[in-house]
Amino acid sequence: ECKQQLDQQFLLFNERMQEKLKHMLTLERELNHAIETEAFELYYQPKIDLKSETVIGVEALIRWPMPDGSIRMPGDFIPEAVRTGAIIPIGEWALEVACKQIAQWRDLGARIPIAVNISPRHLKLPEFTGKLLEKVKRYDIDPGLLELELTEEALVETGASNIFILQEIRQAGVRIAIDDFGTGYSSMRYLKVLPIDCVKIDKTFISGGEGVELSDPTITQAIIFLAKGLSLDVVAEGVETEAQKQTLKDIGCDKVQGFVFSPPIPSRLLNQILFPEIGYKAQETY
Ligand code: C2E
Ligand code: MG
Ligand code: MG
Ligand code: MG
Repeated sequence: ECKQQLDQQFLLFNERMQEKLKHMLTLERELNHAIETEAFELYYQPKIDLKSETVIGVEALIRWPMPDGSIRMPGDFIPEAVRTGAIIPIGEWALEVACKQIAQWRDLGARIPIAVNISPRHLKLPEFTGKLLEKVKRYDIDPGLLELELTEEALVETGASNIFILQEIRQAGVRIAIDDFGTGYSSMRYLKVLPIDCVKIDKTFISGGEGVELSDPTITQAIIFLAKGLSLDVVAEGVETEAQKQTLKDIGCDKVQGFVFSPPIPSRLLNQILFPEIGYKAQETY
């Protein structure tokens, strides 16, 4: 009887495995198709200067619109894209679109920096920097308007060889930000040794706590203090409430990003906000 039970459990396990495998294979096929047909879209979330409450740049966040009008979020496909390697063409596409967008804004007379999230798997390719700089050159944009966001984990895990790549990228004038800071395993020393320009405080320290206040003001303040001491820019992510915004201001945070200002939005919508005076008007529907 015991054996029968075990067999049954194995069968169940097996079924679940097969289900999971099937899901992965389907997603892999869909991802490849989406890459070929350029089915993705970049949304942009404004970064705000707290003193002036003006837009000082944007973060590009990938979206995958579905035929039924729904939108697939990066959390549901980026991990699989990293696993299969699809993240590399996706990352190249995102960089291309971002460079093109910077050029379009330049042609409208605006200098708006864009930050693009990059997977360490992509960054580690020997041709990464060359291809990046080729795009910057082709669109004839100021490299200082482009920033690469790499997670703390990505930067630490890849170690010394990456420092060389980062140096090369920064030497060309492209900025580097450390994303989701405070959630990985890095020590404070990394902020000093890594060639970076900006620290993004992970949103778990900002929102999602009990109330409307900062969920971890002590850690947030410490990161701000540390970053400033090292002459790094610091951005607080995931600011959702007025109270969080005020506290951040009080503890010396200059730059923020979050739903209290704007969620990530399509470029056409952002253009309406940035350039209300020129014709991004009702003839375009959203
Ligand atoms: P991330 O780079 O840390 O991006 C910030 C995430 O926080 C975004 O989620 C954004 O929509 C969300 N967010 C912004 N403001 C708030 C807020 O006030 N409250 C809360 N709760 N969340 C807020 P999203 O767009 O779902 O992206 C999730 C993650 O997927 C990103 O985290 C990034 O790691 C990855 N990702 C997104 N786009 C790309 C991409 O083009 N390439 C790569 N490699 N990864 C990407
Ligand atoms: Mg990011
Ligand atoms: Mg982040
Ligand atoms: Mg994140």
